Amino acid sequence: MSDYAGELMSQVKKKNPSEPEFHQAVHEVVESLVHVLDKHPEYRSGKILERMIEPERVIIFRVPWVDDQGDVQVNRGYRVEMNSAIGPYKGGLRFHPSVNLGILKFLAFEQVFKNSLTSLPIGGGKGGSDFDPKGKSDNEVMRFCQSFMNELFRHIGPDTDIPAGDIGVGGREIGYLFGQYKKLRNEFTGVFTGKGLNWGGSLIRPEATGYGAVYFASEMLATRNESLEGKVCLISGSGNVAQYTIEKLLDLGGKAVTLSDSSGYIYDEQGIDREKLEYVKHLKNVRRGRIKEYADKYSHAVYTSIDQNEDHNPLWDHKADCAFPSATENEIDENDAQNLLNNGVYVVSEGANMPTMPDGVNLFIQEKILFGPGKAANAGGVAVSGLEMTQNSQRLPWTREEVDKRLQLIMKSIHHTCIEIAERFGSPGNYVNGANIGGFLKVANAMLDQGVV
Ligand code: NDP
Repeated sequence: MSDYAGELMSQVKKKNPSEPEFHQAVHEVVESLVHVLDKHPEYRSGKILERMIEPERVIIFRVPWVDDQGDVQVNRGYRVEMNSAIGPYKGGLRFHPSVNLGILKFLAFEQVFKNSLTSLPIGGGKGGSDFDPKGKSDNEVMRFCQSFMNELFRHIGPDTDIPAGDIGVGGREIGYLFGQYKKLRNEFTGVFTGKGLNWGGSLIRPEATGYGAVYFASEMLATRNESLEGKVCLISGSGNVAQYTIEKLLDLGGKAVTLSDSSGYIYDEQGIDREKLEYVKHLKNVRRGRIKEYADKYSHAVYTSIDQNEDHNPLWDHKADCAFPSATENEIDENDAQNLLNNGVYVVSEGANMPTMPDGVNLFIQEKILFGPGKAANAGGVAVSGLEMTQNSQRLPWTREEVDKRLQLIMKSIHHTCIEIAERFGSPGNYVNGANIGGFLKVANAMLDQGVV
């Protein structure tokens, strides 16, 4: 690491203590940018990177609500408005007990680069709460969402900041949040994406992140004149991203054999077909059950509980060609990465944000497998959110085919940018450098144009 990068990282750690995920995300970007900053002194003298790692604004607020027993509960709400150089802040809300400021800053930072890569005019942000929707009644979730919005509404708007979903925030939560925003503001606007189809949502938005991760894998395979046809795929998670990753894999002839949640995973050697996928959607989106029940329903599938203290995750230790980590950050450590390689995996397309830890990423790059980092591979979700904003502005919904076609074009273009930029900056085939530099340049140039603000 150069002196400049080393000094920058020590400042980041000093100014943002106890935020390891944020340090990790910044470190990866700084490593990719070393050559760019050497060639372009204007970014150094304009302190572009130093400004990009400092959120433009962070809002932290109390979220009190009353549970079904009549007891008062108190959660903490956040919105990190990271960078608006190329458009209004845009990024999801996460409701999960692990949520803290450092995690949201890492996600917001990643979002800035990802949104830039989509080529749409959207800045980066992220938010959420340490509230856990698991095990809560619909009424409790509604009361929480309304209280959350009672503060957030004054900070967001269709030209300012447009939140969407993430872990723990799906169609139900967005409905309650949007309803309360509308009541408080007395206006019907495209302030959220991921909305219901009857009230301003876009077709293909629920599918977009998973579909996009699969399109990105297809593009990577095409560089070797291969396709997903007949490829065995490992998928983690069983939420929005995982479900639609499997749906698109089925369309393209791939075979998905695993799914997980935070308790354990299932391995179905026969493959998760359309009927089984429908079962999973009902299990997770309607009944809100656990993935263990899959093995009760399909007795040939094997369920294994996951012990978070083990030195590896057995889900990543099966023979396969491709992996689509689609649960959460840091779910593939160095041992898991080595297991994936030993089992023949040579395509990793990250549906989740930062699921592979730095040592794992280094292994994938060293072994020259097709490794699509989340910033690029999972950008389909925010890309279709951007398309939802366009449809809302036009007050004109597009067909499913139209949105899907645009999603495919955007994923193709992101792939092309990664390849072209990686080559131009001396690391051909390195999608991590391609995505980090590609995302950086547009935002950095916009910041230079707009002066020191
Ligand atoms: P969901 O809430 O729909 O599903 C999350 C899944 O991951 C669940 O199966 C959940 O299991 C599992 N999971 C969550 N946290 C953990 C954990 N700490 N350990 C193990 N498993 C865990 O979320 P999404 O599918 O929307 O998001 C998945 C990933 O994709 C996240 O990293 C998110 O940031 C990223 N992403 C999502 C986008 C979107 O459009 N939704 C866009 C781009 C990225 P359990 O139910 O047990 O918690």
